[in-house]
Amino acid sequence: MAEYLKNNLLGMDRAGLEAYFERLGEKPFRARQIMKWIYQQGETDFSRMTDLSVRLRELLQETAEVRAPEVLSDHLSRDGTRKWLMRMGSGNAIETVFIPEEGRGTLCISSQVGCALDCQFCATAEQGFNRNLTTAEIIGQVWHVNRLLGRDEKNAKRLTNVVLMGMGEPLANFRNVLPAVNLMLDDMAFGLSKRRVTLSTSGVVSNLYRFAEQSEAALAVSLHAPFDELRDEIVPINRKWPLAELMTACRYYIEKHPGRHITWEYVMLDGVNDGDQHARAMARLLAGIPSKINLIPFNPYPGARYRRSSDARIQRFREILQAKGYNVITRKTRGDDIDAACGQLAGQVKDRSRRQERRAAAREGIAS
Ligand code: SAH
Repeated sequence: MAEYLKNNLLGMDRAGLEAYFERLGEKPFRARQIMKWIYQQGETDFSRMTDLSVRLRELLQETAEVRAPEVLSDHLSRDGTRKWLMRMGSGNAIETVFIPEEGRGTLCISSQVGCALDCQFCATAEQGFNRNLTTAEIIGQVWHVNRLLGRDEKNAKRLTNVVLMGMGEPLANFRNVLPAVNLMLDDMAFGLSKRRVTLSTSGVVSNLYRFAEQSEAALAVSLHAPFDELRDEIVPINRKWPLAELMTACRYYIEKHPGRHITWEYVMLDGVNDGDQHARAMARLLAGIPSKINLIPFNPYPGARYRRSSDARIQRFREILQAKGYNVITRKTRGDDIDAACGQLAGQVKDRSRRQERRAAAREGIAS
């Protein structure tokens, strides 16, 4: 059978694999066996999966494959952060970043080629949107890096955390993201703790309800402004789902996950959203929700129209929130020498959507 017709097993979570093996006339426990081979051993060759019957191994070799995205380049930052560019076909590529820290290793993965949400301070938005990643392409990032780190002596830190904070809006691709998250948490696959797999959203409220109901993973929300007027401007999805609706959905997540918290991300933009009044309004907005606040100093990129708030301003903002009882950290900028910091991921996005083209043209003063 031709290569392109093969079923990529990386695209199926446990339920999907069980259904797949059932169609082949096999017992559902084959799913667990094969998951261990693929995710824990990093094995791609069915002939080496020795606890499967010879007949099944042959059948899989003819009809199935384990195919992760191809790595185009690998960059290591001075601070140990590592970034890979992965090929997504048609001249497109996405970025995946590994951040080693004391006692943990966090992988930041992408969920789309580009992004359609147009947040005004984000390099990925500048690239426009091309397409959703498949489940295989999403989990393939984790699969690949886990396999690579296991072998690489110099970077022997293990992968313990995954954040969906790379390129794209995960809740705009929920259908493909959910099985990938299931695999991260599944003991037969990566077996990561549900508190160590975090989906970050700028507020696709319709799918936030589905996420709250269908996943155990942790939630981070990109707030960036406590007032609708400002948020409409810098996080345009707010025009569709304003703060009141976003907050109702967030409270629903907490209701469904007692004892858990929400991480609030807040990019610090000089003179835009970093005033005392913003901090105070944010404290009121989050009242009653178990919260952790991450202040992210703005990371610049070519063509960016904002500046990073001063350290003193960030400190003051933080103190206002802390005085109201919030747990606040200022996120350290990591990997900025290799353009791997938050909001700097650009990848290669070809054939971006027309809407984005028009915006870019308008910005450059070309009539659209
Ligand atoms: N679309 C998702 C996940 C990707 S962005 C979301 O919006 O949450 C991950 C985080 O980096 C978000 O909080 C995003 O707002 C932030 N970010 C984007 N551009 C940034 C920049 N230039 N500097 C600092 N943080 C940025």
